[in-house]
Amino acid sequence: MTIEQVINKFRQTHPLTDTQIIEKTYLFVKEAHHNQIRLNGEPRLEHLLQTAYTLAELKLDTASLVAGLLHDILEYTPIKLTQIEKQFGNEIAFLVEGITYIDKIRYHKRDKAAKDQVENIRKILLAMAKDIRVILIKLADRLHNMKTLDALPKEKQKRIALETLEIYAPLAYRLGIGELKGQLEDLAFPYVYPKEYQEIVDQVKDRYSQNKRYIEKITPSVKKTLTKKGIRVIEIHSRTKHYYSLYKKLLRYDMDWHRIYDLVALRIIVPDIENCYAALGIIHKNWRPLIGRIKDYIAIPKHNGYQSIHTTVFCQEGKITEFQIRTPQMHQKAEHGIAAHWHYTEKRGLKDYIRQAIFREKSEKKSHQLIEELTWVKQLQEWQKEQFSSPDEFINSLKIDFLKDRIFVFTPNGDVIDLPEGATPIDFAYEIHSDVGDQCTGAKIDGKMTTLSEQLKNGQVIEIITQKNKKPSRDWLKFVKTSQAKSRIKNYYKKN
Ligand code: MN
Repeated sequence: MTIEQVINKFRQTHPLTDTQIIEKTYLFVKEAHHNQIRLNGEPRLEHLLQTAYTLAELKLDTASLVAGLLHDILEYTPIKLTQIEKQFGNEIAFLVEGITYIDKIRYHKRDKAAKDQVENIRKILLAMAKDIRVILIKLADRLHNMKTLDALPKEKQKRIALETLEIYAPLAYRLGIGELKGQLEDLAFPYVYPKEYQEIVDQVKDRYSQNKRYIEKITPSVKKTLTKKGIRVIEIHSRTKHYYSLYKKLLRYDMDWHRIYDLVALRIIVPDIENCYAALGIIHKNWRPLIGRIKDYIAIPKHNGYQSIHTTVFCQEGKITEFQIRTPQMHQKAEHGIAAHWHYTEKRGLKDYIRQAIFREKSEKKSHQLIEELTWVKQLQEWQKEQFSSPDEFINSLKIDFLKDRIFVFTPNGDVIDLPEGATPIDFAYEIHSDVGDQCTGAKIDGKMTTLSEQLKNGQVIEIITQKNKKPSRDWLKFVKTSQAKSRIKNYYKKN
């Protein structure tokens, strides 16, 4: 990667912006990081350029690219923040400081020694709330780190991949950057669930190419059918489902491949909303739709702002095919999320808005359009307005929504334990320690005795009561949720 490639990418969306500062920053980091080699054998400079390139792809502004190039400067060179401030100004220094700060935060899923978890997630969210670009730069940095993860020691690979899967991919999703979310998940998938990943890869190979060939075959005639009825098709292409999201869907469908209709889907982009519905009508007139598979995310957008119409029909040769219909604006938003807003709205709009939301600064300027479109930012504002009695309470209300299918509960001394939805006190006990699980005789939720099969809820404090020489019960297998608990109980009976 060269700085010219980064600048060319940037110019595609910012043709009139002066890029001198980007070039100057490049020379600055080249000097500062000179001869630094990362574990994968490549110069650190390559990592910085890759990060900046991703930011240019996300259509971010000059300050983001400059901060992207500078993001490792405080950690890997003797250069101090005051120097950055002097040379690049307050805005850049603020971004660089924010990224460095997030880098120090470590997410440990099963490490009960990590007492600062609640505080850490809070820090990430607060850094993000102050200036969303901090997180976007962090996501770009993480993307390249994931691409070069192979070079790191094994235990580190697992930790970083898990953190990517459970914190950064959901963040990208929350910000509506679907493409980045998919990439991050697919890069992390083989490190976190190697066996499951291999199974998916093996099973998907033929299916993908078959599906893809079929979609490519029908595309011209679908286009013709629509055009004949007066629809202007701006673009029609196939999209392939990401591996990790396919895996999650299969889990929901008991690994039944026959119920997956959107391995490869046909995406149709038309000029406006009227044409979206018109196209839907024409498709349904020609091919019979499957009942219950029409999803109107235009009338009712997803939580993260995603809009499209999805429908599944018996298409040519009777093959079940998913169509996704949307406008160019919706497409932009689905790919670039909040970054697309950044590009379309006046630069200061979003930042001011979030600042106002967080610090309730009084300002005349308001970006009504954004307030309406960014439900998520609105939520953040709502959360900030509420008075939380403790950081725990604050973080709970925030992250529940972020990491939707996970719950967070607490040990009596305040450690956070992260479990899948529907988890029980037994899952919790095994998460603490296998012996605690094996010897569990009872549990208290928020100080009250409970049954061992009770489903835990976010924010509860769980206390496990143990008894020496107690054996795990086979009945537990009927309700435990985590694979860790399941395999421990099974192993116990295999051994004994
Ligand atoms: Mn980095």
